[in-house]
Amino acid sequence: MSTFKNFSKPIVAGVMLVITACGCISPAKTTPTEVNWNDLSVYEANLIQGEHATLATMSEATVYHLDVSISPNFGTVNGHQEVRYINRETVELPSVYFRLFSNESGGQEVVSVVSVDGKPASFETTSSSSALKVTLPAALKPGDGITISLDFSLTLPLTTEQNFGLLGYFNGVLALDSFFPIIPVYDENGWHIEATDPDGDKTYNDAAFFQVNVTAPSNTTIVASGVEIARSQQENNQTITFADGPARDFYLVASNQLALKSTTVGETTVNSYYLQGKQNGADRALSTAVDAIRVFNNRFGIYPYTEFDIVPLALSGGGIGMEYPGIVGIGMSVYDNLGLLEETVAHETGHQWFYNLIGNDQVDQPWLDESLTQYVTGLYYLDIHGQDGWNASKSGWNSFWSRTLKAEIPIGMPVSSYPGYTYGSIIYGRGPLFLVALADFLGGPIFDNCLRGYCENFRWQVVDTASFEEWFQSRSGKDLNAIFLKWVLP
Ligand SMILES: [Zn+2]
Repeated sequence: MSTFKNFSKPIVAGVMLVITACGCISPAKTTPTEVNWNDLSVYEANLIQGEHATLATMSEATVYHLDVSISPNFGTVNGHQEVRYINRETVELPSVYFRLFSNESGGQEVVSVVSVDGKPASFETTSSSSALKVTLPAALKPGDGITISLDFSLTLPLTTEQNFGLLGYFNGVLALDSFFPIIPVYDENGWHIEATDPDGDKTYNDAAFFQVNVTAPSNTTIVASGVEIARSQQENNQTITFADGPARDFYLVASNQLALKSTTVGETTVNSYYLQGKQNGADRALSTAVDAIRVFNNRFGIYPYTEFDIVPLALSGGGIGMEYPGIVGIGMSVYDNLGLLEETVAHETGHQWFYNLIGNDQVDQPWLDESLTQYVTGLYYLDIHGQDGWNASKSGWNSFWSRTLKAEIPIGMPVSSYPGYTYGSIIYGRGPLFLVALADFLGGPIFDNCLRGYCENFRWQVVDTASFEEWFQSRSGKDLNAIFLKWVLP
C-alpha cells in the first residue's frame, strides 16, 4: 500500500537557489549510461503477483524515464526524459514520432535538445504542433533499439476551454493529462499522428513502462499512475518516484486539498481521494470501485495493478469522468449526485480493461473502448443490483440512441465522423445495444465466453474492429458478417 504523506516546511530565503529565471525548477537529469533498460523488476511493485510474469514477455516494450518538475504556482511543468525504443515493426524506421497532445488542449509545450544515443538529432513539430518528428541518424532496423533523450517545457492552459478541465490547475487540483511527449502506435498505416477530435479521447499508445521522478512543492499530495517506489525531501520540495507499467500512459494529479479513504480488494489498494465536505461521495466512489473491480475481475481477468486511485477533477463542458492507467478522474460536481457518481466510477473502472489492458485506437475506432465500457457497466449493474439494474442500463442506452431517433448510424467510425451529439448517441447508446444484439445472436453464455477469451487473448495488446469480429466469429463458429454490416461497419 502506498501512502502520500505531506511534509510541510516553511519557505526560506534559499528557495531562489533552486528556481531558474523562468520560475521553474530544473529537473535533475539522469544519463543513459546509468540505466539498465532491460531490468524491469522495479515494476513488480506496481503489479499483483499473478502479473509479474508479464514483465518477461514485454522486454522489447518502450521504457520511459522521466524527471518532471512542477512549478510552485502549478503553472508550468519542466521535464527531461530518456526513452528506450526498440523497433518491433517489420520495416526499417527512418524516424520516430512523439505526440504533444497538450498543444491541442490549450497548453504550450516546447521540446528542445533532442538526442539519439547521445548524439544531437534533428526534430520538427507537425500536425498542428501535436506531433514531434525525430529523424534518426540511420534507419532503425527491426529488432534494433535506440535511446532518445529530450527536454520539454509545458506552460499549462489557464482555462478549461480546450481541455474539459483535464489539463491545468483548476479548483485547487492540478491535472496533467497527456503532459509529456509520448510515442504513438505504429502500424500498417504508419505512425498515428492524426489530428484528434475534441469530442473523443486522444491517445493510441502501446503498453509501455514509465519510471517517473516528480518534484513538487512539499505540501502537495501527488496521486499518479503506478505506485510510489521512492521519496526524498529537499528544502521546499519533495521528489517522489513512481513505477508505472505495463501501461498505456502516465498520469498525475497534484493538490494540497485532498483527503483520502482507502481499502483493499485482493492485492489491490483502492484509494478514494476527495475534497473537503465530500465524504459521502468518497465512500460511494470507494465502494463502487471495489465492487466494479470484483465484477470485472470475475468476468474479464484480474485487474493487474497493486493500486487503483480515484481523484476529483474540475471537469467542464459536460465531462464527468476520465480514465487513465491505474487512476480515474471524476468530476467534482458528480460527488453531489451519488447515483451518477456510482455509474461514472463503474464506467471509468471498466476502462481499466477496455482501454488500458486491451488497447485500441480511441480516435478512429472509439466504440472498442467506449461502447464496450458502456456495456460492461451494465454488467456491473446486473451483478451488483440484479435484473432491475441491467434493465435500467439498457433503457439508458436506448434513451441515448433516441437522441438520433434511433438512426442506424454505424458504431465503427472515427470520432470526427459523428457530428455534435451524434457521437454520444451512437457510441454510448447504439454501441452497447449492438453488444446486447450480438449476445442475443450468439446466445448469452457463448457471448460471455467469447468476451472473456478476447480479454485474455488481447491483454496488453491492441485490437481493431477486424480483430474483434474475427475473434468472436472464430470462437463462436457463427458468421457475423451480416450483424457487423447492420451495426458496426460504415
Ligand atoms: Zn468512457
